[in-house]
Amino acid sequence: MRYFYWGLFWISVYLILVIFPCLVMFYGKMPGGSGFWWDFSMVLGFAAASMMAIMFFLTARFKRASLPFGVDIIYYFHKQISLLLLLFILAHPLILIVSEPVVVEMLKPKLLNRYMAAGIVSVVLVIFIMVSSLWRKQLGLHYDNWRIAHIFLSASSFLLALVHILGVSHYIATPEKRIVWSAIMGCWFLLLLYVRLVKPISQMQKPYEVAKVIPERGNAYTLVVAPVQHAGIRFLPGQFVWLAMWSSPFSIREHPFSISSSAEEPEELRFTIKELGDFTRRVKDAPSGLPVYIDGPYGAFSIDRYAAAPGYVFIAGGIGIAPIMSMLRTLAGRKDKRSHVLFFAGGNLDKLTFYEELLELQKKIALHMIIVLEKPTENWQGETGFLTGEMFGRHLPENRNELEYFICGPVPMIHLAEKELNRLGIPLHHLHSELFDFV
Ligand SMILES: Cc1cc2nc3c(=O)[nH]c(=O)nc-3n(C[C@H](O)[C@H](O)[C@H](O)COP(=O)(O)OP(=O)(O)OC[C@H]3O[C@@H](n4cnc5c(N)ncnc54)[C@H](O)[C@@H]3O)c2cc1C
Repeated sequence: MRYFYWGLFWISVYLILVIFPCLVMFYGKMPGGSGFWWDFSMVLGFAAASMMAIMFFLTARFKRASLPFGVDIIYYFHKQISLLLLLFILAHPLILIVSEPVVVEMLKPKLLNRYMAAGIVSVVLVIFIMVSSLWRKQLGLHYDNWRIAHIFLSASSFLLALVHILGVSHYIATPEKRIVWSAIMGCWFLLLLYVRLVKPISQMQKPYEVAKVIPERGNAYTLVVAPVQHAGIRFLPGQFVWLAMWSSPFSIREHPFSISSSAEEPEELRFTIKELGDFTRRVKDAPSGLPVYIDGPYGAFSIDRYAAAPGYVFIAGGIGIAPIMSMLRTLAGRKDKRSHVLFFAGGNLDKLTFYEELLELQKKIALHMIIVLEKPTENWQGETGFLTGEMFGRHLPENRNELEYFICGPVPMIHLAEKELNRLGIPLHHLHSELFDFV
């Protein structure tokens, strides 16, 4: 419930921050006789500018603000609200062009002043940002290159929008209104300073180093890192961090990984990483002593947020076992007495990361484990194929509606599990999932 009220609080803060600059626009002396469509277009423009400013706060990873929702939901919101932002940004000039012929004249090259030009370039950049973000994979853009371009273009389009507002708008002609917009700009610069300077410096002051790399089943490696002359971080089992290795925290080359070790043993952190691309393929070669920088922990995917539950059901596919392993190891470390269920789907036994340790864990906690193999060997006696609702129905205990469910794996598996569990009558607020692919 605590998280629910904090969630409501942060949503209200967001709405106030978006609406406030628009209200300020109508405060005090207004330029007269502009008409409804003109004013409406201005409201859209101001709302879009304040939404642009808040976009940077959304992705600045403020722990308090992201905790009630989880970082993946914040990023999802960032993506969805960008569509509304694009709509506002496009509607702002289009309404003026259609309703005010004088605007068309102002856009002609001869009459175009630099403030109007700044507005036009800002709109073009936003369109470019949206296209490259929505279709990044289809356009074949590498994640790191896309991210660098995304940050640079977003900052440029916001600054150009501010130049446009300060230069052409009569609506902020009074000193009070200029103060509000200057304050917005000031906050934005402070945020930039915090994210790109203060935060990296604090990461530099609390470095980690590679202790060892352990090969696991299923093309995965467990990277064990230890804090260098500091106490390390406390985390909830199932949470993740952004990790920078072979780069400084000032560079933006960092990757999110779930902590797979027990929250009861925070003196070293383990990350179990499957080979996929440039970074993950290098993990196996990380030498002992290599500096590692960590930003976190983040995330709402944790049993500790539902500590009073009568038991947990874990549903993992492939490397989705990593955050779940952290929760299982933590339960074992705490000598938990409740009964839990694990559905673990994978290709074959050889690919099931942590298979042996899971068998060992069954001796420490009451864990009913259902392994589902897509390509089993001939003598396999267990479940085969993909996870199905029918399998859930057969293996879940009678008190299934009271349990909390943690799902992590490929996106189609997560969607199937959520749909089928809900069909079995499990309330949606008992289903918690972690997406490894939210960008
Ligand atoms: C919350 C969360 C927890 C995760 N936990 C684990 C884990 O425990 N084990 C594991 O093996 N994988 C985990 N991942 C996935 C892991 O972050 C990506 O596989 C990894 O960053 C890919 O990097 P790459 O350079 O090897 O691959 P690339 O070929 O560069 O990228 C492959 C895809 O991974 C995603 N990706 C790449 N870089 C990043 C980045 N910096 N930030 C976000 N996404 C990126 C992009 O969608 C990209 O298309 C997690 C992801 C998230 C979001």
